[in-house]
Amino acid sequence: MLLEQLREQVVQVGLDALERGVVHGTAGNMSVRDPETGLIAISPSGMPYRSVTPADVVIVDADANVVDGRRKPSSETPLHTMVMRAHPHIGAIVHTHSHYSTVVSCMRPCLPAILTEVCLVVGARVPVTRYGLTGTPDFGESVLEAMTPESKAVIIKNHGLICFGADFAEALGIAEIVEEAARVYVHALSANGGREPDMVPADLIPEMRAHFLANYGQNT
Ligand code: 13P
Ligand code: ZN
Repeated sequence: MLLEQLREQVVQVGLDALERGVVHGTAGNMSVRDPETGLIAISPSGMPYRSVTPADVVIVDADANVVDGRRKPSSETPLHTMVMRAHPHIGAIVHTHSHYSTVVSCMRPCLPAILTEVCLVVGARVPVTRYGLTGTPDFGESVLEAMTPESKAVIIKNHGLICFGADFAEALGIAEIVEEAARVYVHALSANGGREPDMVPADLIPEMRAHFLANYGQNT
């Protein structure tokens, strides 16, 4: 089977995302790029995560043409291939409809700097897109418009979340961190009578981030 290991990764990240509560039902989709060929393994459209096998994962090229697979690829294949084409350093994409990120997508232009962790790992703000037409290149355009070359996550207006990484471990980890920050933000807003809660001081973020990147974790 073509790119069998990448197909297995797509199956596994779907199960992991389900277990961690960032996807449900058939919502969301995942893709990973083969660095050698540039081909992309993407989840099939409309299949519950637990039912997907490696043979159901579809291989597409960078222009979203199906190269191998017996299933229809995700309806958001244009979104995935457009992001991968525009940002060659992105190796994996996880799109979810996680609840609190979606709540933020319905009411704010961004997820602001509510938690230290999200500022350190993802950035000071996670932008929300304009409304894009799901399943079409317009949806991909709406995400590209909100991205910078450093983007790790974008919240998709009235829809959900998309996260980027070198691999699935990074992209899924970011999806969890953004969802947790969105959850805290929504709860803090409501506990604070709808007024904006306190934020991480903007002037401290660059220094804090540099310190974190230089010092956090083990020296292996
Ligand atoms: P697919 O099942 O076609 O990937 O669609 C799910 C989704 O999240 C659409 O935005
Ligand atoms: Zn979606």
